[in-house]
Amino acid sequence: MDPLIIVGTGLGGYSLAREWRKIDANTPLLILTRDDGHYYSKPMLSGAYTGNKPPDAIALGDAAAMASQLKAEIRTRITVEELDTAAGCVRADGVLTAYSNVVLAVGADPIHVPVAGDAAELVMSVNDLADYANFRAAIATARHVTIIGAGLIGCEFANDLLSGGIASAVVDPAAYPLSRLLPAEAGAALAHAYAGFGVDWRFGRTVARVDREGTRLRVTLDGGEVLATDAVLSAIGLRPRTALAQAAGLDVSRGILVSRQLRTSSDRVYALGDCAEVDGLVLPYVAPIMQAARALASTLAGKPTDVAYPPMPVLVKTSRYPVVVAPPRPGVSGSWCIDRLEGGMRALYRAGDDRIEGFALLGSATAERQKLSRELPALLD
Ligand SMILES: Cc1cc2nc3c(=O)[nH]c(=O)nc-3n(C[C@H](O)[C@H](O)[C@H](O)COP(=O)(O)OP(=O)(O)OC[C@H]3O[C@@H](n4cnc5c(N)ncnc54)[C@H](O)[C@@H]3O)c2cc1C
Repeated sequence: MDPLIIVGTGLGGYSLAREWRKIDANTPLLILTRDDGHYYSKPMLSGAYTGNKPPDAIALGDAAAMASQLKAEIRTRITVEELDTAAGCVRADGVLTAYSNVVLAVGADPIHVPVAGDAAELVMSVNDLADYANFRAAIATARHVTIIGAGLIGCEFANDLLSGGIASAVVDPAAYPLSRLLPAEAGAALAHAYAGFGVDWRFGRTVARVDREGTRLRVTLDGGEVLATDAVLSAIGLRPRTALAQAAGLDVSRGILVSRQLRTSSDRVYALGDCAEVDGLVLPYVAPIMQAARALASTLAGKPTDVAYPPMPVLVKTSRYPVVVAPPRPGVSGSWCIDRLEGGMRALYRAGDDRIEGFALLGSATAERQKLSRELPALLD
């Protein structure tokens, strides 16, 4: 019997394998990955510096351990370069392998904005364990890091570096941090709190150049300001990896388009995780991946199951002033109602009929997370 093939050993690929093995212990499982197949929790990467966790302390199991745990064959350092849906096989490093079903769990690429300067190639991003190893090595003796992007990952790294004794400047064209998730007042409160802890915010700016200056780097912003720094981390977002699917003729939009059963536009081909777009939603977070893995495992085991997305607030790991955010569903109109509390802020997004459609909780208000989550509508029923 042809195996189920899973492409990718991130949280998407491994979670699916684990859920599927709970239901189907015997069908052959082949997992192909272009990395080393280590299992790790990616969210730890933006909080690991504080805990002085080197990369091998983050890895929870290597490919051999995962293969035995999952009763799978895992081929590492191999790139799937073609998906032939008519023949029902994948080509990886020149070798064709037939599948019974195939699941794309190929993740997303960091977005890079073009930067000029003789050290532009030193701008890093951290989207996997190998990136994290490079980043740690690059900041081993750093006193200051410049972060491009004040989104979730940029803010978390600023927090982590701060706790580890490294100062940071955070550069973002928006007027406040987490600008795609928070109302302006909440963003301003977060910025104010972290400015007090020492973060040097540079809002309304982008990085124009990165040049070498002796043993350090010189970052020039588009307004002409110059920052002396030791490393530059780009954290401006992710773009789902759709190229493999697109070349195979599958429907793609922002992500690989899948139905509620995680099925692509081609039979026997599925997708989940950061690469997938489910019912118009690209949600590059852990909770939706776990929901998808459970639903897809059932579907692959012969019980077609729609994925459900209950309310899934995201905790932003800005530990000195934590943020929990549940953005409103796309297309739902309403307005933010903001209450300043002792040590925090509660921002509720209320739809026209006054129902709570989303929230942003800061500082002390994060204690209300569970109570308010129960009032939110599901993203997908
Ligand atoms: C620094 C950081 C912090 C985060 N913090 C949080 C958090 O606090 N909470 C939260 O909910 N989410 C967080 N996230 C997001 C969350 O970690 C991701 O949504 C999740 O890990 C994505 O898993 P994935 O399996 O879809 O993709 P990935 O983990 O990127 O895995 C993709 C896999 O596909 C493989 N691959 C790709 N192309 C090919 C190919 N052609 N052939 C073979 N293999 C291929 C790769 O090698 C890799 O194994 C964070 C993300 C980052 C980067």
